[in-house]
Amino acid sequence: MTYTPSPTRYTNGMQYRKTGNSGLVLPLISLGLWQNFGGVDNFENGRAVLRHAFDNGITHFDLANNYGPPAGSAEENFGRWMAKDFAPYRNELIISSKAGWNMWPGPYGGPTGTKKHLIASCNDSLRKMGLDYLDIFYSHRVDPDTPLEETIGALVQIHKQGKALYVGISSYSPELTRQAAKILADEKVPLFIHQPNYSMFNRWIENGLLDLLGELGTGCIGFSPLAQGMLTSKYLNGIPEGARANNEKSSAAMSAMLNEENLHKIRSLNAIAERRGQTLAQMAIAWVLRDKRVTSALIGARTVDQLDDSLQALNKLEFSAEELAEIDLYATEGNVDLWKSSSIIK
Ligand code: NAP
Repeated sequence: MTYTPSPTRYTNGMQYRKTGNSGLVLPLISLGLWQNFGGVDNFENGRAVLRHAFDNGITHFDLANNYGPPAGSAEENFGRWMAKDFAPYRNELIISSKAGWNMWPGPYGGPTGTKKHLIASCNDSLRKMGLDYLDIFYSHRVDPDTPLEETIGALVQIHKQGKALYVGISSYSPELTRQAAKILADEKVPLFIHQPNYSMFNRWIENGLLDLLGELGTGCIGFSPLAQGMLTSKYLNGIPEGARANNEKSSAAMSAMLNEENLHKIRSLNAIAERRGQTLAQMAIAWVLRDKRVTSALIGARTVDQLDDSLQALNKLEFSAEELAEIDLYATEGNVDLWKSSSIIK
């Protein structure tokens, strides 16, 4: 059926924040297609989630070359959803992609930060999604085997050719972020945005990165604010059917995290959220947005109902000092964290 977006999509409660020093705003809640939108997932369900997002003012969809599974299939599906539903609204959308992790076989397919990989991948992403340009293109990871000048030089080229209007980096340490910003500034390209993991359970960006981004005038979009579902009430009574802790890729790591000690922390956080009149998911999203240097919370959603629940975080964004202190009793840096060891490259 032809899709007509809700006429109230910009008056329905979504709020927007400026991205660093740029004039461009992003919605406080952005939607990522890392999981739930691949070739193995239900096409019409993914389509319904995207429609619901746009109908509620979510103007930013985040992708990467390798999202799926299988790798690459989320961008292929997104190309179909664009063609079927969103093409007339392209000017209303901020669409991002990234490269740096594994994508195709052989030495150039990743993980790598070479110019060869980034440029070829950006071209593939444009083709798969049927887009003339990306809004944001990211270096997905630091590659210790490629000079930073080469990786960031690829972003400069992509920007100068108009293949991406803005460029960003993901999971770079403060020191490498500073170096990347300098390489870009020398070419008169702003470092528009950084995409780090950020949640009540993973606060690494508070140890220098957020201050640096404020100083550089670079935006910050925090990914996995729900700690992949652990900062919701879904695991309080066991592992439900279809949840990520049941899926092949994530189940071992997540099940290990869902031990009695951590469940006690999640239950205690859930009680704080209830007292605030929110679900835990809503409180977790509001929490990452409490610092205005965080431009957007980059969430995932498997169903329309989950997205609906998460969207209502915007109804209560403020925290009292007492609430923040109580949250800190149960959620501190790195105590229940799937990303800590794997993601940030110093
Ligand atoms: P998340 O928001 O922390 O987790 C999303 C998952 O939480 C959903 O799949 C669902 O899990 C559960 N969920 C969502 N809303 C819920 C609700 N209201 N109630 C109960 N459960 C709920 O984010 P994420 O999916 O891990 O990541 C979000 C996006 O960040 C990705 O799509 C991607 O764009 C980006 N990302 C970037 C990087 C990077 O390296 N730059 C890495 C990771 C992610 P179930 O499926 O189990 O129901």
